[in-house]
Amino acid sequence: MSFKSKVVLVTGGSSGIGAAAAIKFAEEGAKVSMVGRNEKKLQNVSDKCKKAGSIPLVINADVTKDEDVKRIISDTIKHYGRLDILVNNAGTCIPSSILAPNAVQTFDSLMALNLRSAIYLTNLAAPYIVESKGNIINISSVAALRPFEDEVGFAYCTSKAGLDHFTRCVALELAPKGVRVNSINPGPVRTDIAKRYFTDESKEQEMWESAKKMTPLNRISEPEEIGDLILYLASEKARSITGAVYAIDNGYLMK
Ligand code: NDP
Repeated sequence: MSFKSKVVLVTGGSSGIGAAAAIKFAEEGAKVSMVGRNEKKLQNVSDKCKKAGSIPLVINADVTKDEDVKRIISDTIKHYGRLDILVNNAGTCIPSSILAPNAVQTFDSLMALNLRSAIYLTNLAAPYIVESKGNIINISSVAALRPFEDEVGFAYCTSKAGLDHFTRCVALELAPKGVRVNSINPGPVRTDIAKRYFTDESKEQEMWESAKKMTPLNRISEPEEIGDLILYLASEKARSITGAVYAIDNGYLMK
């Protein structure tokens, strides 16, 4: 799968799934623009892209800030002159309960990061992607496809379910213009996502162990496995796929 001469923008490129995708795109010859806030992690991924033969444009930005979203698109266009593929990957999970006093604050912050930022980025990127007849990939979750409580909760599930329907609506609207839009819905993937809410490492390990037991294949995915699916859906091989919601979950949803 060659992405030579393609310009790819990956949000959340500093860690986990986004980092794996950015490196894989670089390995396939793409010109990569990667977004995150953690300077050290961005530098680390940038070095790996360079090693793979492609010097990425690194944009330190917060996708929940409108000014930053405008800068992400304008800097990418200024630097590369075009945009072919947008991967809306930046996101996180904050456990939520509808009985918690701060339920609405948690909901607002997850909607801002997991859904609104993807909508605004798509809004500003779409004219360029229409011009290049490119495609958009939204990183959703199995939490969009079934409800979860406890460590996940209603707010994360709702933000990702909204993202899936956004995928379908925009796929329908942009199909006549030759643009494809798809969602990828991972089950548990070993990334830093859990570190963001478990300060205790043994609790984090316990969580991964119990998630593993819940999958029929008895395994957790590695970020590179999701990266492979991102590259496939972004490539010409997937030219007939749009408006799709792809679970990649070691069979998690069957249980
Ligand atoms: P990580 O925590 O490893 O990575 C999250 C990425 O999002 C980081 O690069 C982080 O960058 C970026 N990010 C978070 N908030 C912001 C922000 N406000 N502005 C800019 N960038 C931001 O987690 P994953 O790789 O696991 O998560 C990637 C996506 O995959 C998310 O959308 C998540 O919901 C989804 N997912 C993950 C699953 C899993 O089990 N890991 C399962 C299902 C879905 P930085 O820290 O530099 O700001």
